[in-house]
Amino acid sequence: DRLRLERIDGWRWKIPRTGAMRTDGIIYAAEKMLDAIRQDQAMDQVANVACLPGIVGYSMAMPDVHWGYGFPIGGVAAFSVDEGIVSPGGVGYDINCGVRLMTSHLQALELGAEKIRDLVTALFRNIPSGVGSSRKDFKLSEAELDGVLLKGAQWAVSKGFGDALDLERIEEGGCIPWADPAQVSAKARARGRSQLGTLGSGNHFVEIGVVEEIYEPKTAEVFGLFQGQLTVFVHTGSRGLGHQVCDDFIRVLLKSTQKYGIDLPDKQLCCAPVASLEGQSYLGAMGAAANFAFANRQMISHWVRETFEQFFGQSSERLGLSLLYDVCHNMAKIEEHVWQGQRRKLCVHRKGATRAFSAGHEAIPEAYRSVGQPVLIPGDMGRYSYVLVGTDRAMEDTFGSTCHGAGRVLSRHQAVKSAKGRSIVKEMEDRGVFVLGASKATLVEEMPEAYKDVSDVVEVVAQAGISRPVAKLRPLGVMKG
Ligand code: 5GP
Ligand code: MN
Ligand code: MN
Repeated sequence: DRLRLERIDGWRWKIPRTGAMRTDGIIYAAEKMLDAIRQDQAMDQVANVACLPGIVGYSMAMPDVHWGYGFPIGGVAAFSVDEGIVSPGGVGYDINCGVRLMTSHLQALELGAEKIRDLVTALFRNIPSGVGSSRKDFKLSEAELDGVLLKGAQWAVSKGFGDALDLERIEEGGCIPWADPAQVSAKARARGRSQLGTLGSGNHFVEIGVVEEIYEPKTAEVFGLFQGQLTVFVHTGSRGLGHQVCDDFIRVLLKSTQKYGIDLPDKQLCCAPVASLEGQSYLGAMGAAANFAFANRQMISHWVRETFEQFFGQSSERLGLSLLYDVCHNMAKIEEHVWQGQRRKLCVHRKGATRAFSAGHEAIPEAYRSVGQPVLIPGDMGRYSYVLVGTDRAMEDTFGSTCHGAGRVLSRHQAVKSAKGRSIVKEMEDRGVFVLGASKATLVEEMPEAYKDVSDVVEVVAQAGISRPVAKLRPLGVMKG
C-alpha cells in the first residue's frame, strides 16, 4: 500500500490527490533519497495534511523530511485565514525552535585545535545545557516572564543581553506582536521560568565553525561572510514552556476538531479554524512561546560573546561577534502571499522548515534586502552546514520556504545500536572536531550518520530553485546539550 509518486522533475515528486485529499502533495527530493524517505510514515503524513480544510497550494515536504507528530518534520502547508485551520502538529513541540549564526573578525584556522577545545570548554561552563541546569546569576520573576512572553528578544535586549542591532537581524525582529501570554498555562509558565537561557538537550547545540567555501561572493559579502572566518551557531527553542503549550493545546484542539466538525485522517492533526476562538487562543499561546525562544537564543548569544571576551581578552566589538541572522524553523505565521495571481492572507505552517523570502521583501532586514533573506541550514556535528538565500521561485512555489537541516535517517535507537563499541568523541576528534556533550548518550544519538548528508538536501532545494547556496561551513568545536 505504498503511496503512488509521480515524477515532476529530478527534484520534485507529486502525490496525486485521491480520497479525502483536497490537493496534491509535493515532495522535494532527489530520486536516491526516496527509499530513505519511505522508511517511515512521512509520505502518508504529507497526504494527510492535504486533507485539511482551507489548504491553499500543495501539502509540501522538503528534502529533510521525516516522521513527526501529525505533520511531517520538513513539512510546509498554508491555509486560508478565512476557511482554513491552524494546527499545533504543524508547528511541533519545540515552538520556534530555530538557529542563529554569528560571524566574527577571526580567522578560525589560526586558532588551532587546542584553543578551540578550550573555547568550547569555556562555552560549556558559561551556557547551561542538559537537563535541569541554569546559571546561578540569573533568575526570572513571574512579572519578568510576562515581559519575555510579550516581547521576546526585545525583552532580553532591554535587560542588557545584546543590542538593538541584534533585533534587526532576527526574523520578526525577535518579537511576535500577536503573542498572548494570558493563553499560556500556569504549568507551562512553571516549566519555562527556570529554563530561560538554557540550551536544552539532544539536538540543540552551540557550534564553532569555519567558512570553508563561498559560492556567491557578492551575497556572502552582504551577509558579512568570508573564507576562513570563525562563526558560531546557536540552535535551541522554547524549552519546556513551548512543549507544554503544545501539549495543552493538543488537548484543546482535539475538542474543537469535533466542535467544528472537521474530519481528520489522523487525530494528531487536531486543529481549529484560524478565525475561531480556539484557533486564536492557540496562535496567541504559540506566539508567546515563540517569544520565549527568541529571548532564549538572544541570552545564549550574549553569553557566547561574554565567553569570547574573557577568552581573548578583547571586546566582542573588536572580535566582531555580530549576529548574521536568526531563523525560526517550527512556526505558523500569518503572511500575505500571491498564489496563482491572487494576493491572499495565509496561515503558513513551517515545521522543520525555514522561511526563505526573496530579495526586496519588506520582512528582510534592510542590510540584506537587496539580496534576499539569509537561510541557515545546520547539517551535523561532523560534516558541514550551509548558509543559503531565499529566491523568487520560493515565493512562487513554496510560500517562501525551504529546508531546515539535514534531517534524521537513523532513529535515536538505531543510532545507539550502530554506535556500539565505538567512541564517537574520538571519531569526531579524528575529523578535527572537538565535541563536548552534557550526556554521552545524546552524543551518540547525534552522530553524523544519524543524519542525511546535508549537501544532498541543499542540492535539491538549490536545483528546485527555492534557495541558493551562499557559503558552506565546517564544524570545529561543538557544545551539545
Ligand atoms: P531539529 O531542529 O530538526 O532537531 O534539527 C535541525 C537540524 O540540525 C537537523 O536536521 C540536523 O541536520 C542539524 N544538526 C543536528 N545536530 C547538529 C550539530 O551538532 N551541528 C550542526 N551543524 N547541525 C546539527
Ligand atoms: Mn530545531
Ligand atoms: Mn528544538
